[in-house]
Amino acid sequence: MDDSNSAPTEDAHEFHWSYKGEGGPENWVLHFPIGGLDHQSPIDIIPGECVPLEATSSSCGRSNADGVESFKFLLYDENPLNIEIENNGHTATIHWNNATKSSVTDVVKPFVDKVVKPLVTHVANKPCVTNAVKPFVDNVAKPFVNNVVKPLVTKVAKPCVTKGGLDSSYILAQFHFHWGSDSSKGSEHLIDGKAAPIELHLVHYRADYGSLGEAVKDGDCLAVAVLAVMYKIGEKNAALKPIVDALPEVLDAGTKHVIDYTMDLSGFLPANRDSFYRYSGSLTTPGCKEVVVWTIFKEPLELSEEQLEGFRRLHDAEGDHLEDNFRPVQDLHGRTIYEYDG
Ligand SMILES: [Zn+2]
Repeated sequence: MDDSNSAPTEDAHEFHWSYKGEGGPENWVLHFPIGGLDHQSPIDIIPGECVPLEATSSSCGRSNADGVESFKFLLYDENPLNIEIENNGHTATIHWNNATKSSVTDVVKPFVDKVVKPLVTHVANKPCVTNAVKPFVDNVAKPFVNNVVKPLVTKVAKPCVTKGGLDSSYILAQFHFHWGSDSSKGSEHLIDGKAAPIELHLVHYRADYGSLGEAVKDGDCLAVAVLAVMYKIGEKNAALKPIVDALPEVLDAGTKHVIDYTMDLSGFLPANRDSFYRYSGSLTTPGCKEVVVWTIFKEPLELSEEQLEGFRRLHDAEGDHLEDNFRPVQDLHGRTIYEYDG
């Protein structure tokens, strides 16, 4: 996964990590020693060696539930107001704008139309604009932002996942992809030694943290939950279409683009959410912190080769093609990989 947007940069050195050359994965550990520890990701998942996920003692990567309930996805069926696509030089990251269309239409827009605009018109003709505006800011605007807008943004509209053998609720922070220069490779996780051409990471932080950055910084081994979905080459993927169509707007590293998105998040999940692998691991990008409960769904989604080409046309920070942006698999070091087939 990639947490470079939200996580604090704890290492102040000049090392610019990447997926090739001097900055490549084999050198990450020189600058990020955590990357050499024994709960690293990604891994090669050997299905025949997995252990059923069921009631076990509570610890990282295990369930303490009396049996495992199906995942519950909250607000995954809600359309976003819009989405922001960012090329951060390492991947294409999607930020889901959580405010729903209805909350903006019902609350924010009438407030702007009925209060803000008349007031601005009113004070524009007055000489003492500062005096007129200050009481408005103190008495109306600030309370409105604190009491209405912030709760709306922080509570109402954040997609969140719970159950599925997870001990807590986890809030969606962002999602992004890892892909190959050709379709024989691309995914970070391997299944029985085989790569998928592209892997999606839906990155969530535990709900008792305020942000992904706080969760990563804390370092708890259950602080972050990443849901990984593999794609195989096939039919054009409808959920990906608006994103792929917008990729030409973020060809260069460091660029962002906002688009309307009229679908919900369910198109990024397989139909069968009751079959998955589970293990305890790390972020797959520097600083490689061991904070992730990983879920890798067994059922792949499909996308077309043409859609995949759209990702390969992006550029990294050096202006080269952004591709093969996956970390090689890491040693299991005796960890158990659980599997669930509900
Ligand atoms: Zn990732």
